[in-house]
Amino acid sequence: VDHVVVVGAGLAGVRSVEALRAHGFAGRITLIGEEPHRPYDRPPLSKAVLLGQADSTVVDSDLEALDVRLCLGVAAKGLRDGVVETTEGEVHYDGLVIATGAAPVRLRGEGRQHVLRTIDDALALRTHLVRRRRIAVIGAGWIGAEVATAAAKAGCAVTVVEAGEAPLVTALGDVGGYTAPWYGKAGVELRLGAVVGSVDPDGVTLMSGARIEADVVLTCVGVRPAVDWLKGSAVALDDGVLVDEHLKTSMDNVVAAGDCANWWSRRFGRRMRVEHWDTALGAPDTAAATLLGEVAVYDPVPYFWSEQFGHMVQFAGYQGAAERRVLRGDPLTDEKWAVCWLTGEDRLAAILTVDRPRDLVQGRRIVEGGQRLDAARLTDASVTLRDC
Ligand code: FAD
Repeated sequence: VDHVVVVGAGLAGVRSVEALRAHGFAGRITLIGEEPHRPYDRPPLSKAVLLGQADSTVVDSDLEALDVRLCLGVAAKGLRDGVVETTEGEVHYDGLVIATGAAPVRLRGEGRQHVLRTIDDALALRTHLVRRRRIAVIGAGWIGAEVATAAAKAGCAVTVVEAGEAPLVTALGDVGGYTAPWYGKAGVELRLGAVVGSVDPDGVTLMSGARIEADVVLTCVGVRPAVDWLKGSAVALDDGVLVDEHLKTSMDNVVAAGDCANWWSRRFGRRMRVEHWDTALGAPDTAAATLLGEVAVYDPVPYFWSEQFGHMVQFAGYQGAAERRVLRGDPLTDEKWAVCWLTGEDRLAAILTVDRPRDLVQGRRIVEGGQRLDAARLTDASVTLRDC
């Protein structure tokens, strides 16, 4: 391999460059990114940037020292054997990393819809977060909740419109319902079971015909893997780029990592595509190793966090195979609590913690190790998790 091309200059892209060098690759590297910006972190966009505490979140990586050719403002349009077609012409590769992430879904309607994926999106949205401005946030997912937090802090009149019966329902099911009281406490109106029909110039119309007037509408209903440019290529796609446990695609010398990659997890015996920072941070090491002919397997316990309504919410694991749930603390009366998902053998499958960071750290290790827990002790929130 003489020349590696990395497409997508987000976190997974820049980490891929670092990992290639860390694994001893001394050939040429080209990093191609559609945005005009140097690689930056997205988690602060809905937190510090919206709150006015940061204007830049550029990743701390010395790209000059890594000796990488940076092609910003350039989009990949197609792929054939050994060639990436871009808006600036063809780029030949011996090895390719696909790290094009994901792009926000938009809804129907004539009205302006803000989305929040890029630093430009965040800076544009921030100018609207002023006292009394009426903001409608569509979707009470992770990002919707964080934006509602920032908008309420700025004094906006915030309405969050959610189609499901609880916030965070896609990620957590009914457990997300424990976070519903946080909205009211922050002065945010939460409308559950409200399906948006269209986004209009002066607000939102629900399928029921009801209207929510707003000066600004933010659509936060999820993302889709940004893989349209690979259609018609030999790279197999299905909810992202299909890769094996080594992060290898169906095409020779092509790997994928980050939000766009749908990998085979040995640990969970299923495919996973995880749209979280920790995956974009960790997967590129395996992707780089695989591209360089080493044998490496990516098999993490997925992890993420969210900061909303003054709470640190963290999650580790995968709850799909769990059979029951155990609460540590009472979500309705206690400030700090956790939910543990257990398998039929009382092994910890997943843990959600609210302001209990130590439970998260220990829980993540317990999920990784696969040991059994004493479910009765687990319900006593004063017993350290690793002693359960
Ligand atoms: P991306 O960050 O999407 O980077 C992909 C890059 O590829 C983009 O710059 C894109 O422009 C570029 N690209 C796309 N198509 C092309 C093309 N055809 N040619 C060239 N370039 C292309 N995760 C957490 O765990 N905790 C959080 O608190 C959290 N908060 C978040 C808040 C916000 C507002 C957002 C948007 C995300 C948040 N995340 C969080 C998720 C996390 O940021 C993502 O999982 C992570 O950014 C994924 O990195 P990536 O490099 O795979 O993709």
